[in-house]
Amino acid sequence: MTTTGLPNITADVFLKPNKEESLLRFHPWVFSGAIASRQGDSVEGDLVRVLSSQKKLLGIGHCAPESIAVRILAFANEAQNVGNSDFYYGRLSSAYLLRKGLGLISQHNNTFRLVHGEGDRLPGLIIDVYGNTAVMQAHTVGMHRTRHLIAELLPEVTKGLISNVYYKSEGTLPYMANVESADGYLLGNKDDQTPAIERGFGFHADWLRGQKTGFFVDQRDNRALVEDMSKDRRVLNLFSYTGGFSIAALRGGAREVVSVDSSAKAISIAKENVELNFPQDMRHTAIAADAFNYLAETGDNAHDLIILDPPAFAKHRRVLRNALVGYRKLNTLAFQKIASGGILFTFSCSQAVSREDFRLAVFSSAAATGRRVRILHQMSQPADHPINIYHPESEYLKGLVLEVE
Ligand code: SAH
Repeated sequence: MTTTGLPNITADVFLKPNKEESLLRFHPWVFSGAIASRQGDSVEGDLVRVLSSQKKLLGIGHCAPESIAVRILAFANEAQNVGNSDFYYGRLSSAYLLRKGLGLISQHNNTFRLVHGEGDRLPGLIIDVYGNTAVMQAHTVGMHRTRHLIAELLPEVTKGLISNVYYKSEGTLPYMANVESADGYLLGNKDDQTPAIERGFGFHADWLRGQKTGFFVDQRDNRALVEDMSKDRRVLNLFSYTGGFSIAALRGGAREVVSVDSSAKAISIAKENVELNFPQDMRHTAIAADAFNYLAETGDNAHDLIILDPPAFAKHRRVLRNALVGYRKLNTLAFQKIASGGILFTFSCSQAVSREDFRLAVFSSAAATGRRVRILHQMSQPADHPINIYHPESEYLKGLVLEVE
């Protein structure tokens, strides 16, 4: 089986009777269990037409030999030109115009998510932008096979803003997929990069060595909230990665900031980032350690503002229970340790954990410690990570800002 080259339409997929409902409501996934039959030979990543049992065209999308068998790119009423250059130009342009309209592209900020998969009606595609460099991830073979076309369109779509495109999909493509790892520059190179800036802060977005696309762009708005609330506080930033929240707290006037992450590489970049923005600032300490152990061993009343931003504890619904145990354990420790009058920022980025599940886990933690707790803010993902209203699965980040008496 070869899965190379730009996908063409190679097959028709017929649904079982009454399985078209969700597609008529613009949900972009077709599950394998809904499929009655296929006509034509398709390989992974090809475009397929999806039709109802009455043979009515519903949409066209990338196919995969998985439980999500088709991801719809275009529904029936817009099904011309699907998958060609005009189609991608249109989708990418509207993604770009949204970010521009949000004020995310300026001298003060050049770091944003340009494409958020289903949220931008491009299932399987993520693009984060740092200055003049776009970092692209494919989560499907269909998008993997379209990577060169997308890369070539980006300079024009962004009116010359982007001149480098780095492709980083080794960790995101389905692991059974029959594709060669192809990470590297599709356009430009690393010697021609402008610095990445978020809300006026410079930072190193290290897509070559870093996690995900190099930086967690999704916490921009929540970092601004930390900045607003840090004045004179002793801040503990757990799961700090490269120090995004720490830098915000320093600018907000924190008395001291401790960054803790289990990755020594992340901690060393966090130190560089703080040095870049606040040279020789003695208020910051960065420690490579396990966050649970650090919190368990820290003194009572040592911190007035604690940030908990752990990695996704649940990647799937079936491990939900374990994930909730993890959130409860972590938040209970924080409630035990935080100083009186302290502020707790607590997050979950597990898509499988609902807002209600998460809130209940934090509620149980508060109750277990007997502290009085009030919710000051309820946080979400920022506007450049839009949630397609027909695809609630695009929502993943949730957080609470709590005051602990
Ligand atoms: N808050 C960060 C993003 C956090 S991502 C930001 O704003 O950029 C989650 C981080 O948790 C990763 O950097 C990962 O290295 C770290 N991590 C995972 N398990 C950990 C543990 N047990 N203790 C400390 N850090 C951990």
